[in-house]
Amino acid sequence: MIGILGLQGDYAAHGKMLDALAVESRVVKKPEQLSTIDGLIFPGGESTTLIKLMDSWEFWAPLRDFAATGNPIFGTCAGMILLAQSVSNPPQKSLGLIDIDVERNSYGRQVDSFEGTGVWAADGQPRSLPMIFIRAPRIARLGDGVAALATCGDDVVVARQGQVLVASFHPELTSDLSLHRYFVDMVGR
Ligand code: GLN
Repeated sequence: MIGILGLQGDYAAHGKMLDALAVESRVVKKPEQLSTIDGLIFPGGESTTLIKLMDSWEFWAPLRDFAATGNPIFGTCAGMILLAQSVSNPPQKSLGLIDIDVERNSYGRQVDSFEGTGVWAADGQPRSLPMIFIRAPRIARLGDGVAALATCGDDVVVARQGQVLVASFHPELTSDLSLHRYFVDMVGR
């Protein structure tokens, strides 16, 4: 069972991707629900709002415990920001579950949102992947233990360290199921 953190943002779209893969999912709104799932998708949204909601629902320690027991987590966009080791523009707190530094809203006002084509290189032959970026963060530093799974231009846009997977764009808004399929494999059906 895969959980989708339903505090804020476009969590419903992730549910549709999992439906398309015939994988059961449930929206997680309270920390105690983490014990009912085997992997968690941390959707995009607005990271400052997510921080406030995580504070009021006391999600920080339970999420760290969930990851510490080896459960896979997949963060997209603001979800990636929350999972990162450190955050800039401006600095803000994060869970520190993957050794990357991210810069928020890094693609500038002119290109607030854009669709691009990147290269997905995680399963065998590298191939092109549609990517939708919305006020996206950029991975500014990739730690030694972190694998780059996809790039767009000069940027690494999908990274993995152990059981933590992150993407700076919104795969759930495209029709390509590659990332969700990859995450489902990490969780194990
Ligand atoms: N700009 C948002 C932030 O910094 C992230 C945007 C998104 O998740 N699409 O929190």
